Amino acid sequence: MPFSVTPIGFVRSCFKEKFAIPRQPRLAPAARGVLELLAPFDRAEAVAGLEQVSHVWLLFLFHQALEDKPRLKVRPPRLGGNRQLGVFATRSTHRPNGIGQSVVRLEKVEPGRLWLSGIDLLDGTPVLDIKPYVPYADSLAEARNAIAEQAPAAIPVDWDAAALAAAQAHGARLGEPLTELIEQCLAQDPRPAYQQPAPERRYGTRLWDVEVRWHYPEPGRIRVLEVTLAGA
Ligand code: SAM
Repeated sequence: MPFSVTPIGFVRSCFKEKFAIPRQPRLAPAARGVLELLAPFDRAEAVAGLEQVSHVWLLFLFHQALEDKPRLKVRPPRLGGNRQLGVFATRSTHRPNGIGQSVVRLEKVEPGRLWLSGIDLLDGTPVLDIKPYVPYADSLAEARNAIAEQAPAAIPVDWDAAALAAAQAHGARLGEPLTELIEQCLAQDPRPAYQQPAPERRYGTRLWDVEVRWHYPEPGRIRVLEVTLAGA
């Protein structure tokens, strides 16, 4: 029996493309965004009390990965993209009903707006519900997951001097920790694990309104080459 759900708001996020978004929340604390709530939830009553909460769960739609045909097995990029697992053993975006969940830091609460950090959500993501994080219930000291035991190891990120200066200037213009955002996202090594990049191959993505370009001068090391205004 089908049910229908309606977004309660949409996220305005630093991430304008899927590529280089961290695979889970909190891996890039400098990843910020605003959840803009829709009527009737844009009123002060709907968020009353939320200022007493440091983190929230967001339930959202992977709106850029919705598929008609359900998959039973998926290939998580973290496992090299060549190992299949049952969809329910993964946090893949390709899943029945396309529902994602992320626990994120709540920086500020305003009527109609929640200011968030540590997000892993694409710009424009429809949010279905918000729930306060409850430490005594949601933090499980005994929990184990042998597939994803710990956060992926961060790789070193170096900068061309001009790229670093440009990132700092754009960060100041935007009022955002752009240099940290770039370092934190690239340190996750966004490239699928099965790709062995040649040093001349360039990768890129868009964060806020800037294009970031980088390459792998040697395996396991990233160098940021350019940070430019998108469309310039
Ligand atoms: N924390 C969530 C979860 O466990 O349900 C998301 C995990 S999923 C592996 C994270 C990836 O989802 C990000 O790297 C990004 O590429 C992708 N993503 C984020 N927002 C999306 C959206 N609205 N539509 C499609 N893909 C999205």
